[in-house]
Amino acid sequence: MSEQIPVQDVTPPRPKPAETVELYAAREKIYTRAFTGLFRNLRIVGGAFLFLLYFGTVWLDWNGRQAVWWDLPERKFFIFGATFWPQDFVLLSALLIIAAFGLFFITVFAGRVWCGYTCPQSVWTWIFMWCEKVTEGDRNQRMKLDKAPMSGPKLLRKSAKHTLWLLISLATGLTFVGYFYPIRDLVVQIATFQADELALFWIGFFTLATYGNAGWLREQVCVYMCPYSRFQSVMFDKDTLIVSYDPRRGEKRGPRKKGIDYKAQGLGDCIDCTMCVQVCPTGIDIRDGLQIECIGCAACIDACDTIMDKMNYPRGLISYTTEHNLSGQKTQLVRPRLIGYAIALLAMISVLGYAIATRSLVELDVSKDRVLYRENEQGRIENVYTVKLVNKAQRDLTFVIQAEGLEGLVYEGRREVHTSAGEVLSVPVELSIEPEKMPSSTNTITFRVESPDDPSIHSDAKSRFIGPSVR
Ligand code: SF4
Ligand code: SF4
Repeated sequence: MSEQIPVQDVTPPRPKPAETVELYAAREKIYTRAFTGLFRNLRIVGGAFLFLLYFGTVWLDWNGRQAVWWDLPERKFFIFGATFWPQDFVLLSALLIIAAFGLFFITVFAGRVWCGYTCPQSVWTWIFMWCEKVTEGDRNQRMKLDKAPMSGPKLLRKSAKHTLWLLISLATGLTFVGYFYPIRDLVVQIATFQADELALFWIGFFTLATYGNAGWLREQVCVYMCPYSRFQSVMFDKDTLIVSYDPRRGEKRGPRKKGIDYKAQGLGDCIDCTMCVQVCPTGIDIRDGLQIECIGCAACIDACDTIMDKMNYPRGLISYTTEHNLSGQKTQLVRPRLIGYAIALLAMISVLGYAIATRSLVELDVSKDRVLYRENEQGRIENVYTVKLVNKAQRDLTFVIQAEGLEGLVYEGRREVHTSAGEVLSVPVELSIEPEKMPSSTNTITFRVESPDDPSIHSDAKSRFIGPSVR
């Protein structure tokens, strides 16, 4: 009789096929509900001011010239009565640094107010949302319209919306380019089909960028593309103003009938109406806590305050507050970090103001000829220079050129020159001296230009006078 040997399957179990995890999540379209309230009004006032500033400034004239104009071919920047040259761009860099510090200061103090109220991306998005509401209706109507099959009325509404968006985008692009090409000429050139191709390219570029950013990308620009939104959270501290929901007061959330003793039922002040979510331009629920998507626009405060009013509850379930406040501690508005930023900001503004106020309106540059020196017919030692001066004033000026620093130096060339506003002038100058009067083979001399029209306009430049070795 054969004996059976028990066998056991020891094959290692096969690994399960790897699960594929989808990292990409398609964007869910946000249908923002229209609302009213204090912060919406503030935003309208701020947005209107910026709009007027942006679209209006480019049409202003100053002394017969566009008041704000970057004349790139001539490398000049006109801003009202002042002209800035490439040499002055250090002032522009200082201005940008001050703007950055100003933004840091505001962010430490009041969080993302720049994002919510004044950032062009937000302002243009709110305007595009208003166009959407005018052409396609309120939130529910827009959702219904998007679900409906294409029809004549739907096509009409969608076309009207995109036409409005494109017109605003075109005006934005044209205005932007108008800061670089004189806008009045540009409009005439476009109307007569004579516009520069480069200008047309940039108008098209900025039109499409506005249409894409404010019409289609919207909150994705803030969440995924804006570097400022990424790093500003490191500037926040526990005393920075943030838009926040008060869970101690709001929870436990839930619907209830008006007028009942909801506290007896264990409910908080939040009736879970989701109105704060429906008005949010980035589509988040502020009740989940502070999130990177929150641009601090306070739309949810307005919406929730309206609900609180209707329920006869006190306002402020969602409010501008601080982390210290939320945890029951005292908020310290004036704190060392803020004072540090304020002092740095004030110091930089003072230095910039001083630099602009004392900026010379004449630029002087002296270059010496490559021939070190020569001896003229009278046996004098001669050096040749090119004196380049730039009239940075907004008016014509006369300048007198002098050279000093060596006794017995004789100047040959034009001493008095006339320049028109903004003119760059090169003047050849010869200096000579008797060899025995030269104290050294290389001598430092100073060129000076001064305007007799306004002696406060002057400039100095150092150069060298070279001769043979002195024995
Ligand atoms: S709007 Fe106010 S009450 Fe309504 S869900 Fe939001 S937090 Fe709650
Ligand atoms: S959560 Fe409130 S403050 Fe933040 S983006 Fe949404 S609506 Fe604006």
